[in-house]
Amino acid sequence: MALTPTKFIWFNGEFVPWEEAKVHVLTHTLHYGMGVFEGIRCYKTERGPAVFRLKDHIERLHNSARMVGMKIPYGIEELIEAVKETIRRNQIEECYIRPIAFYGYGVMGLNPAGAPVNVAIVVWPWGTYLGEEGLKRGVRVKISPWRRIHPLILPPQAKVVANYANSILAKVDALSSGYDEAILLNLDGKIAEGPGENVFMVKDGVLCTPPVSSGALIGITRDSIIRIARDEGIPFEERELTVDDLLGADEAFFTGTAAEVTPIREVDGKPIGAGVRGPITERLQRIYFDTVRGRNSKYLEWLDFVS
Ligand code: PMP
Repeated sequence: MALTPTKFIWFNGEFVPWEEAKVHVLTHTLHYGMGVFEGIRCYKTERGPAVFRLKDHIERLHNSARMVGMKIPYGIEELIEAVKETIRRNQIEECYIRPIAFYGYGVMGLNPAGAPVNVAIVVWPWGTYLGEEGLKRGVRVKISPWRRIHPLILPPQAKVVANYANSILAKVDALSSGYDEAILLNLDGKIAEGPGENVFMVKDGVLCTPPVSSGALIGITRDSIIRIARDEGIPFEERELTVDDLLGADEAFFTGTAAEVTPIREVDGKPIGAGVRGPITERLQRIYFDTVRGRNSKYLEWLDFVS
């Protein structure tokens, strides 16, 4: 997806012009994939730009780093303030936010000890990941031949750069087969998630999503949708799901910061339910968008106003 540059990037505590936020080709993470990142969104609200669940995202960044033994040289409060200041400096009302911590230039070989931990925060305008049309009509999905990384191989709960090689393989395979997105199964053949989204389905009025033990990332959008569904009195179950369960579902959708709440209308060429956005999906999607845009007073605690 093409990028729309903004003016400034927060890079190791300083603001640098977009074009100047560069690294050496011997940046350790570039070679070996050991880095951690986040994806966050800031939405325009009546009270100005607001970041959705900022603290939860920055805490997850710190947790990801801790899980792989990386020490981020900036604290949680410092990074929260840095994200807000980056949005203010760029005078942007709605954006995607990408904090990344990576091993920089200084050592080579697999042991990153001695390499500096660099941190950057980049913001840019980014429309919904699976397209506006996808939000309304739903997307077409392929069950990937690539399986979701197993916890004995890489930590699926950490947003580690290397993990996304697995996601890229699944994404590119789905696109080259003419689909919009992939769903990855785990090694037991149970549904894990999308390459960058969690998966939900609805059957007989019950909302279901795979548990973390299936390989699903504890998505912040996933958590928000579960809370909203509970508040709405929609029955909810976290349970292992098979492809068969999904094909027999009445509705299905993806959740993620980038993909927001995107209906799934087809899996492997077969329609899910009526092959259109289902009523529960539409209801949860509406509440989610009202929430992130500050139109729902019930969930104001999730918004971090920038100015
Ligand atoms: N799974 C993966 C692999 C992801 O990268 C993401 C995006 N962070 C998600 C699920 C959705 O998580 P969230 O709702 O926190 O963006």
